[in-house]
Amino acid sequence: MESYPMAVVTAPGKVEFVKRTLPPMGDHDVLLRVKACSICGGDIHLYKGKHPLAPLPMAIGHEISGEITRAGRAVSKVSVGDRVAVEPVIICGRCHFCLRGEYHLCQDIRYQYSAGQGGFTPYFVASENWVHRLPDSVGYEEGALLEPLAVAVHAARRAELGLGQSTAIFGAGGIGLFLLQVARAAGSSPVLVVDLLAHRLKTALALGATAAINAAQEDPVERILKETGGLGADRSFEAVGVEKTLHQCAQSLKKGGICGLIGLFEEANQVHFPINLFVQKEIQIRGCRGYCWDFQVALDLVKAGAVKLNPLISHRLPLADLPKAFEILLDPKAQAGKVVIQI
Ligand SMILES: [Zn+2]
Ligand SMILES: [Zn+2]
Repeated sequence: MESYPMAVVTAPGKVEFVKRTLPPMGDHDVLLRVKACSICGGDIHLYKGKHPLAPLPMAIGHEISGEITRAGRAVSKVSVGDRVAVEPVIICGRCHFCLRGEYHLCQDIRYQYSAGQGGFTPYFVASENWVHRLPDSVGYEEGALLEPLAVAVHAARRAELGLGQSTAIFGAGGIGLFLLQVARAAGSSPVLVVDLLAHRLKTALALGATAAINAAQEDPVERILKETGGLGADRSFEAVGVEKTLHQCAQSLKKGGICGLIGLFEEANQVHFPINLFVQKEIQIRGCRGYCWDFQVALDLVKAGAVKLNPLISHRLPLADLPKAFEILLDPKAQAGKVVIQI
């Protein structure tokens, strides 16, 4: 096969297309013609050169869907012509955690992009074990968005989110808006969403938030206490990655409550925390890392119509415009939601 382009961040603020030839395919691998790849908050950290776990240069793109155009000899779970979403993890399959089924904690976990295969490219090789077949009712763009939705599903499970629980979500970016819908599907009420940007809060209300709280205009902790009869929220989620919102997450939590921590902190070693709150309120903060058997639930939620993915897409661009897509995402005036690259 001839060479094809794949996007790599080579220096902060610089995306380049490098030439790539098809990697060797194993017997259980499939070749995808990539159809859609959306841009994740993690990609933006990477683009800025500030991803705490991904040094440059690094391939980008891990929210991927496509059509299977070739299948290895032993492939039996999917076939050529299937439309699939990629679960972009690479695990060892042998460590303590993998053997317990907790593959997101694998001692040697890597992601396709950190192993050199990004998603902003026309072709992608994946194992048949890590692709999920899309039903006809789920489009390629929705397929790409299953990855961040799976992150939200995982966070909801980690925080034991459920029926009748009051929930506060800090950050109405992609993950926050997915989480809002997952919380509604789980029967949480009220679901309160906090952000600084009016257009995101508007989307949150359209997607069923009980209240959208603009932290630039009012104190979100006071408002959450008011909305929950002075008790605080049963569950809170930090989906920003900033010290201030982490504090607010803990402060707005009800006694005995659980906070799910999803945001990636660029200044991870500088975070201070009012540590006595743990004891005073018997609260818990639980880290939420990636996904583990959560794609299946994410897909079911979309199939059932309980989660809507298309309203989150604000921009669609061709592959060649990927650098422009990052400019859009970093420009507050562009009011970007999820940006999907159509390939
Ligand atoms: Zn992502
Ligand atoms: Zn492992």
